[in-house]
Amino acid sequence: MNIHEHQAKKILKDYGAPVSKGIVILSIDQIVKKIPELDSKEFVLKAQIHAGGRGKAGGVKLIKDKKDLVDEAKKMMGKVLVTHQTGPEGKEVKRLYIEEASDILKEYYLSCLVDRETSKIAFISSTEGGMDIEKVASENPEKIITKKINFKKEGPNDDEIEKIISIFKFDKEQKIVAKKLVKSLYKIIVEKDANLIEINPLILTKANKLICLDAKMNFDDNAIFRRPEILELRDLNEEDPAEIEASKHDLAYIKLNGSIGCMVNGAGLAMATMDIIKLNGKEPANFLDVGGGASKEKVSAAFKLILSDKNVKGILINIFGGIMRCDVLAKGVLDAAKEINLSVPLVVRLAGTNFREGKEILDKSNLKILSAENLNDAAKKIVEAIE
Ligand code: ADP
Ligand code: MG
Repeated sequence: MNIHEHQAKKILKDYGAPVSKGIVILSIDQIVKKIPELDSKEFVLKAQIHAGGRGKAGGVKLIKDKKDLVDEAKKMMGKVLVTHQTGPEGKEVKRLYIEEASDILKEYYLSCLVDRETSKIAFISSTEGGMDIEKVASENPEKIITKKINFKKEGPNDDEIEKIISIFKFDKEQKIVAKKLVKSLYKIIVEKDANLIEINPLILTKANKLICLDAKMNFDDNAIFRRPEILELRDLNEEDPAEIEASKHDLAYIKLNGSIGCMVNGAGLAMATMDIIKLNGKEPANFLDVGGGASKEKVSAAFKLILSDKNVKGILINIFGGIMRCDVLAKGVLDAAKEINLSVPLVVRLAGTNFREGKEILDKSNLKILSAENLNDAAKKIVEAIE
């Protein structure tokens, strides 16, 4: 789960990290009431969407004169921002963060994340702040250092912290603040079950102050149940409606940009199905794992979910009946297909428990459902059917 910048900054502040003062507004009329809380002359208006790259897309604006604030906020609120992280459809701005402007001397990058590969906590630091870190990694890898530390309750030791911040070449005084920040990030990762905290940029002001100027946080969905204070920060406006619907039915669904909808049981089989669609020259419209023991209701919900995507030109159902029985699945498919007046080609491949009964149910129906012998045959059939 992702949260907004202003929420991430509140958490940072609670953990003693340096952030600027700011106010969040959900409607323009809140500005006049809240603005006296800020002391500065200049402000930065920041669109709150769950995506980075806002600066380049017009979602971060310096306001030099307080009297322009309301007009500029009006322009930004409701705007659809397209950044390299939003996809071409962009994201509508529904809340703004107004922050005191900083006088920037230098921008740095600092992030902390759970490294699944090594089961360690990794810190990434770079002198190239404010930039896309993937770009820095590919073009100037010498400007980034990654330090992985073993998990320990007390957090990184002084030696490790020295290495994490070494690339910044800070003086003694700056180091004290940076070290404290590293400890805070580690603590947040552990105590809030975060997967990632990214400060980009971490800045040094002309007055020699270190400040976290942007903050991104992502939390482990599997641990959210024990972090109600984090779950409270969820903004459903920022999430894909189909994915919200999927989570209600306990379906693992991720929307993609292709034209072939997939319904599969088991994550591994779902990945293989997506691969084989690509091998046959098309792109999957989604990843969807209906799980091992999917009920008729679940299958029906999954089916509707796939069809809610307007890009879907055909559907491939690939089920291995282990815990799930193929005849139950076939009934679920038929019911859902009738209910929603299925108008796109559907190929079904069933294997495992009761596959013959399942196939018979599908073949006997008067719906246009193609059955397939194996995975490759299924992919070929659906690709041919939509061409
Ligand atoms: P994004 O990463 O989505 O583009 P950032 O919050 O990193 O958004 O802002 C982009 C750039 O805008 C920063 O790199 C920084 O140069 C500038 N900026 C952001 N917030 C402030 C601020 N409070 N004061 C001065 N400059 C800012
Ligand atoms: Mg940023």
